[in-house]
Amino acid sequence: MASQTRRVSIVVDVGGIKTGGTHPIVVQSMTNTDTADVMSTVNQVMDLARAGSELVRVTVNTEEAAAAVPRLVDTLDKFGVRVPIIGDFHYNGHILLKKYPECARALAKYRINPGNVNIGRRHDENFRTMIEVAMEHGKPVRIGVNWGSLDQSLLTRMMDENSKLPQPLDAAAVTRNAIVASALLSAQNAESYGLAHNRIILSAKVSGVQDLIEVYRSLAAQCDYPLHLGLTEAGLGSKGIVATTAALAVLLQEGIGDTIRASLTPLPNGDRTEEVVVCQQILQALELRSFAPQVTACPGCGRTTSTFFQDMADQIQTYLRRQMPVWKEKYTGVEEMKVAVMGCIVNGPGESKHANIGISLPGTFEEPKAPVYVDGQLMTTLKGEAIVAEFITIMEEYVARRYSMLEPVA
Ligand code: SF4
Repeated sequence: MASQTRRVSIVVDVGGIKTGGTHPIVVQSMTNTDTADVMSTVNQVMDLARAGSELVRVTVNTEEAAAAVPRLVDTLDKFGVRVPIIGDFHYNGHILLKKYPECARALAKYRINPGNVNIGRRHDENFRTMIEVAMEHGKPVRIGVNWGSLDQSLLTRMMDENSKLPQPLDAAAVTRNAIVASALLSAQNAESYGLAHNRIILSAKVSGVQDLIEVYRSLAAQCDYPLHLGLTEAGLGSKGIVATTAALAVLLQEGIGDTIRASLTPLPNGDRTEEVVVCQQILQALELRSFAPQVTACPGCGRTTSTFFQDMADQIQTYLRRQMPVWKEKYTGVEEMKVAVMGCIVNGPGESKHANIGISLPGTFEEPKAPVYVDGQLMTTLKGEAIVAEFITIMEEYVARRYSMLEPVA
C-alpha cells in the first residue's frame, strides 16, 4: 500500500464500521429507489453491498419511507446483509425521526443537511430535535452541507460582512467559506446540544473540482472530524467518473477523506453499482486499498487488427471481479494480484513479467501463439481457440497456490 500521510481525525463508529483515524477509507453509495418500496430498495442495497459498498444511504423523505426503514433493515438482516443503512433527511427529518422512532433506531447514521433543516426561524429548533433523537438512540450524524442548498441566511450574512472589508473576496470565495462555516457551525451547535464529538462526520459537497478541493482543504485544516468526500452532481458517464476521480484523487493523496462516494448519474436502467466500482478503483489506483485483482491491458494499436485481445482483457477482468467474493473466503491477499493482457510482443512480454501473471497475444503478422508469464518467468505458450479458458485455468491454479490461507506443506 502507498504511504500517503493521512490527516489526523477522530474515529466515528457507523453501525460497526469505523470511519476516520487510521481505519481504511470507507466506500459508500446511495440507492435511487423509492425507500417506501421495500423490496426494490432491499434488492438495490443488496446489489450495492455485493459490489463492495460498506455503507448505503437511503432517502427518508416521506412518512411512508420512514415507516418502511425498519422493514428494510429487517429484511436485509434476514438475507444476511449487514451493511449499515444511513438515512438521508431534508426539510422534514425532525418530524419523521420523532414520529417514527423505529426508523430512528434502525438507521446506523442520520445525514442532516443544515441548509434545509427547515427554512426560517425554526431552523435551530429543528436541527436540535434531530440531534436529540441521534443522542437518544446513540447514533452518529453526518452534517452534510451542499452548495445547492446552502444556508442562505448564513451566506447573506457572510456576503454582507465581506462587502465591508477593505479588500473584499470575490463571491465564489465567500461562498466556499460559507460552505465550510455552515458545516463547522452546525457541528459546534450539535455539540452544544450534547452530541458527543465522536458522533460527528462532516461533508461539504460542491460540483466543481477546484472548488471541492479548496473547500475540503479548508475544512480539513479546521477540524478533526472524519470527512466524507464526494463531488456532488458529478454527472453522466465519463464526465462524472473523470471529474470525481480528479477531485477525490487530489484530496486523498493529501490524506484528506475518510469515506467516499461517487455521485454518478446512471443511464436509464443503468447499473447503480458503477458508483461503488469507481470508488474502489480510485482507492486501488492510489494504492490506498485493494479490492480486486487488477488487469493491465494495452490500448491496442495498428499491430492488433482484431478485437480478440480486447475481448480477452474484458473477459478476464469480468472473471476476476466475479471470482473475488469466492476467492475472498478462501485466499488472502488475492485482491493485490496483477494480471497483464497485452496485444503483441512489443510491450507484451515486458509488461507480463511485471505482473503476477501475464499473457502476450499475437499481433498481426506475428506467429499465432501467446506466451504466458508467471512471476516473471515464461511458463508456457498457448495456442488455438481455447486461449482464454486455458489462461483462466492457469490463473485459478496460481491463485490457489499463491494465496492459500493454509500454511504450505513443508
Ligand atoms: S503492446 Fe503491442 S498491440 Fe499493445 S499497444 Fe503496444 S504495440 Fe500496440
